[in-house]
Amino acid sequence: MSPAILVRDLRKSYGLTAAVDGVDLEVPRGSFFGFLGPNGAGKSTTIRMLTGLIPNDGGSIEILGFKLPGDALEIKKRIGLVPEESLLFDRLSGVEFLEFVGRMYGLPRPTAMERARELMDLFQLQTDRKIIGEYSKGMRKRVAMAASLIHHPELFLLDEPFEGVDAVGARVMKDILTDQVRRGATIFLTTHVLEVVERLCDRVAIINQGRIVACAALNELRAGGESLEDAFVRLLGAGQQTGRLEWL
Ligand code: ADP
Repeated sequence: MSPAILVRDLRKSYGLTAAVDGVDLEVPRGSFFGFLGPNGAGKSTTIRMLTGLIPNDGGSIEILGFKLPGDALEIKKRIGLVPEESLLFDRLSGVEFLEFVGRMYGLPRPTAMERARELMDLFQLQTDRKIIGEYSKGMRKRVAMAASLIHHPELFLLDEPFEGVDAVGARVMKDILTDQVRRGATIFLTTHVLEVVERLCDRVAIINQGRIVACAALNELRAGGESLEDAFVRLLGAGQQTGRLEWL
């Protein structure tokens, strides 16, 4: 069976900045895959290309055996997406938005309505008529993740899904994602929070300055009893940069 994600020599530049500079990635089906890197490393640019939100300059992308850009529609039907900046409709209430997304994926109206209500409950979002424009950042992430689930996708592409979400909300989200993997889904998640990766992911790739510097099972990365944080700092060669300000 083809991998969930297969990327070869992926490239994207902004002017003179090579945001993604020849990335190879293979994400096996059924894995909980953490895509890590410091700020500005190229995580969001990569995930935007994987979801077809921006075109790549070079290289190839295959998602669930379908090729981008040609098979974009087939891919969109099968993936759940939480982008960094959630693409929500601020004028709709949460439940209206979820129903709308369900309809966009071709669910019959009663099914979309039912799932929308169930997801609002599951994500502990009040089912009042509050519009998304009045949501907090954490609530926006919750409703975005709820929307990513409504069509029961095979693969989730999540860009910093826990950012701004409180501890209870993050726990709910983590439990749902773990359950999805147990049922055979694949998760590809970007984050800079190593604790999230240590608790959830079974495979990890680390990107720095647009290039993959490590890609392995989590256990392999931590071999020798090293914490993920130590491995991360070592692989980025950042350990020596502990500068100090005279006046501080
Ligand atoms: P990360 O998600 O790992 O923090 P990004 O993929 O957002 O990193 O950014 C990678 C690099 O590309 C950075 O140097 C960033 O400044 C640059 N970049 C990202 N998006 C744009 C854009 N729309 N225009 C110009 N430069 C960008």
